[in-house]
Amino acid sequence: MPVSVEDVLKALDDHICNSRTCLSVPIILLALKVSLHACLRHLGIVDLQKRVSFLVAQGPGSRYIQLRDGIGKTSEIFMCTIGALRIENDEYLLFKNKDFSISEFSDRVTLNADVFGPLGLETFAQEDAVESIFSGLSLGANRHGLFACVNHVKIGDDSHKNYDCLVETALHVAKSVKEAIAAIHREVAAQPYWWGNLILADAHQLAAVEVRGQEIRVEHAATRIFRTNHQPMFGETASPDNLPCSSTRFASAQSRLGIVRSVDELKATLASHDDGDTGICNHGVPLTTVYSYILHCKAGEMTLHVANGLPCSARWSELPLPLGALWNEQSEGRFRAKYPNGFVA
Ligand SMILES: [Zn+2]
Repeated sequence: MPVSVEDVLKALDDHICNSRTCLSVPIILLALKVSLHACLRHLGIVDLQKRVSFLVAQGPGSRYIQLRDGIGKTSEIFMCTIGALRIENDEYLLFKNKDFSISEFSDRVTLNADVFGPLGLETFAQEDAVESIFSGLSLGANRHGLFACVNHVKIGDDSHKNYDCLVETALHVAKSVKEAIAAIHREVAAQPYWWGNLILADAHQLAAVEVRGQEIRVEHAATRIFRTNHQPMFGETASPDNLPCSSTRFASAQSRLGIVRSVDELKATLASHDDGDTGICNHGVPLTTVYSYILHCKAGEMTLHVANGLPCSARWSELPLPLGALWNEQSEGRFRAKYPNGFVA
């Protein structure tokens, strides 16, 4: 249901800006569509500096909550369950369920002979006329067989850089998990990053890297590793940002991943619901799984399995990754044509 600028300003007046600071810059409303019947309503407001605020409300008549702290950064709208498994000595997997506070999302994908990856986000648009702001990589693979992904823990102020940039850096400069950890270490020593968890996998190692400002903690694992939206190595058992079900998704992953021995079994785990409409697959309470990814490497051959939508019901696509010697314009074209609901970066 479209509403006017005046409606938005009234909503701001009524519910949000007690300090009125967010009205101190001229606001251009690029797009605003509010579904009064959706369980979550969203407002995207872009100021002249093209910085975006997101406001959500749980239902018709309820008050809006401003999801950014500081200027132009979102929080509490990304979840994600991530991890990696080693099946055999020459076979390993990395996975991610991408959970957003919107129910549909289209990836923007980068692909060349060296690196594949869907781009990460600083903010996303609820509706088509608001421009999402992309940054770094949400997950990806490089020609050396290194897999990496990241999920959200907590954002920092404007002095902090997006954790998605760490995935991009790792995949561009590192040939292995060991080199990726060293690269992340250098980046984080140079400047603070939003709090996030990275999972790394190659032919020899699996690792989790918890990033918090300018600190990192590293865990190595032989056969499985995973994270939700908190940082166990910093002593946490639940999300510091109050993201839903971080602890229960952690428990689900812990109980389920030990028995996974194949891509199909991993798909079933990513589609599981241990807590009604949530679990590892989330059905809008309050976040929704919008993409599910499995990067698979067996005997040096890399494949992406990807589902756009709920992994318990969406169709999975299987796409050979055309990296390194396999890359050419035709193989890239085939990959892009088969990628579900994504488009060129
Ligand atoms: Zn589901």
